[in-house]
Amino acid sequence: MGRTMRPPPPFTRSLAVALAVAAGWLLVVAVIAVAAGNLVGIAVLAAVGAVMAAACGLATWRSARRVEAWLGEQLHGTARDLETSQQAFRRAIARLGETLAATHDREKILEAVSETAQLAVGAQRGIFYEYIPARKVLLARSGVGPDAPELTLPLGTGLAGASAEGRSPLRYPGTAAAPVFPEPEVGTAMAVPFSSRGQLLGVVAVYGHTTGGTFGDDDVEALVTLVAQAGTAVDNVSLHEEARRLSITDGLTGLWNRRQLDLRCQEELERAIRFGRPIGVVFCDVDLFKNVNTEWQHLGGDAVLVEVAQRLSAATREIDVVARYGGEEFVLLLPETDLAGARILAEKVRRAMCEEPVEHNGKTRTVTLSLGVASYPHSGTSVRTLLAGAQEALKRAKENGRNRIEEAHPMMRSTG
Ligand code: GH3
Ligand code: MG
Ligand code: MG
Repeated sequence: MGRTMRPPPPFTRSLAVALAVAAGWLLVVAVIAVAAGNLVGIAVLAAVGAVMAAACGLATWRSARRVEAWLGEQLHGTARDLETSQQAFRRAIARLGETLAATHDREKILEAVSETAQLAVGAQRGIFYEYIPARKVLLARSGVGPDAPELTLPLGTGLAGASAEGRSPLRYPGTAAAPVFPEPEVGTAMAVPFSSRGQLLGVVAVYGHTTGGTFGDDDVEALVTLVAQAGTAVDNVSLHEEARRLSITDGLTGLWNRRQLDLRCQEELERAIRFGRPIGVVFCDVDLFKNVNTEWQHLGGDAVLVEVAQRLSAATREIDVVARYGGEEFVLLLPETDLAGARILAEKVRRAMCEEPVEHNGKTRTVTLSLGVASYPHSGTSVRTLLAGAQEALKRAKENGRNRIEEAHPMMRSTG
């Protein structure tokens, strides 16, 4: 793989002796190669093959001894190369393994893959191109300096573009034409498409060989293996994200679920206490929701819940937490909001529901909410007391006629 050889020494008399010596060396190195593993082994065998080819020219050499010395020197160099490339390969694989095991960050994985690819095959540069389907272009994401101009390649252009278009690994020289500007213009390069869950995400490409040699089929194989590993890691990230999303959000409305609400309430309340800031809580319940289910069937009821969730989200700020508490009950958590502010928001929400009917399957109906508001420090100093205060106020809103808001009682202070 790219090792340059010195010219052979002059003519010798003993072709048979020299060939025997060369064959012996070949056997030794073949054993080392098999033990060292496929990739590096193939590289060494290739180098030894070249040595053997040279040995076949022995008819023109002078001395079997000098031939032996020359072979020894070449093989010693090859063994050194073997050690260096083995070390680089081991380092590269270890780095990739660590990254893949430790990260759930897509960007980091892709960065590690192009770096590892570069190290493992002894390339001058490794680039990960992201595929942007809407623009049908590849955009270089890693392997280019932070201040480098944007490197884009239309699908089908250059080595990376051709690899993405044909969804196949390519090698130059060999199975593809030379890379074209803005790709690095080099004498040898490889590109392998990168997919996850059946979708093309991009291309990993390496450019130029550090030794000045050219990439071979074994290098393509190594790159394909690395990219496949990274594809599996990215699949895992997607599955992990999906599982996380499902565990913290409500499947019907997409709002935070109750478990997540409890966690966020705790966090936000601790922050409010630490900084001496207010925090508001609004408990909402759809009025006479059983009637919706009866008249519009369960699916109609679901559609109403989705609409309520959308209107609640639209009425609140980015920093507010909107959660489905269960059934037709929703909770709003309002950082930096006192009781008066929570009441104003509750009124906005109430009107957002009752002033515009909900539509489903060509039918409309007016849906109303009853709401109870509470706040820290007015109504309680723990998540439990705040939620209980807002719930108790909601109960009064129902008793007092629905489609209305009631406030929690001030916290009962201990008189000691
Ligand atoms: P109120 O005004 O007193 O709150 O009356 P209500 O009918 O809204 O209250 P109730 O608690 O008696 O009924 C709530 C109903 O919500 C009962 C339950 O079947 C229904 N429900 C709970 N979760 C869902 C859901 O995910 N989808 C649908 N369609 N209905 C649900
Ligand atoms: Mg209810
Ligand atoms: Mg209800």
